[in-house]
Amino acid sequence: MFTIAEHTQETPSIKTIRFKETLSATPAQFVMVWVPGVDEFPMSASYTGHGFGITYQILGDGTRALASKEVGDRIGIRGPYGNGFVLHGSRVLVVAGGAGMAALGPFIEEAAAKGAAVDVVIGARTAEEILFEKRSMLAGGRIHISTDDGTKGLKGFATELASSLLDKERYDCMYACGPERMIVGLLKLATEKGIPIQASLERLMKCGIGICDSCALDGKHVCKDGPVFSETDLRAMAELGKTKLDHAGRKVPI
Ligand SMILES: Cc1cc2nc3c(=O)[nH]c(=O)nc-3n(C[C@H](O)[C@H](O)[C@H](O)COP(=O)(O)OP(=O)(O)OC[C@H]3O[C@@H](n4cnc5c(N)ncnc54)[C@H](O)[C@@H]3O)c2cc1C
Repeated sequence: MFTIAEHTQETPSIKTIRFKETLSATPAQFVMVWVPGVDEFPMSASYTGHGFGITYQILGDGTRALASKEVGDRIGIRGPYGNGFVLHGSRVLVVAGGAGMAALGPFIEEAAAKGAAVDVVIGARTAEEILFEKRSMLAGGRIHISTDDGTKGLKGFATELASSLLDKERYDCMYACGPERMIVGLLKLATEKGIPIQASLERLMKCGIGICDSCALDGKHVCKDGPVFSETDLRAMAELGKTKLDHAGRKVPI
């Protein structure tokens, strides 16, 4: 059980919890968060080590219950699980959609601290939903914003902004987390430009340790084989961007 040290509002729909306890994780590794009496679900480590934290979008019952927790309350944390992003090269492009920035925030800091030049594309529905812009800037990232409604930066999708940067610059690797249609678009761009990509995927998860099959995707367990996959794995996934398993284990369109 971990104790909440800080609970802050990042955007109208996204909050961050920092804990009193320390937990070390590689960027994009995740923990299973147990809200007693409600549910258990996966969340990326958005801050690692001392001041460990998670950053979550309020969507359904589980995250609504989490949002009502206060400083001093205790919730269950197990993990970290899965693999994480691995820095390749010295010039990288990071592309985040919405709450996907939760997994990428610590990676941007790590990559910049290791001396990499980091271009960061942050895509959000609207200006007030942009996550971790200041944090990424303070880390030394070069920030590029897109919003669906044009209230800040380019009016359009993060993939369009990534495409124009890829036309101008040469990157050693691309890193992505966000909606699956964005990841499908970025995989296509990475293939066209001949650069590697690492993308963190999301599927429903129950156990988080490769037993229950809830997160099965083309023979892989997102919890154990991922959540970060390279272009070779991503290209082999016929279900990517098309179908996922629902709570009852039925295959449903994304
Ligand atoms: C490895 C991993 C890391 C994640 N990290 C984060 C994070 O850092 N921040 C964050 O906000 N979210 C993250 N998620 C997604 C998060 O787990 C879900 O949003 C959460 O479980 C929703 O729970 P709920 O009870 O509030 O909503 P539910 O009532 O369970 O669902 C509400 C809506 O969210 C969708 N949903 C539920 N679970 C997922 C899921 N796993 N992936 C995508 N959509 C889902 C449902 O289909 C439904 O439309 C991560 C998911 C995975 C697999």
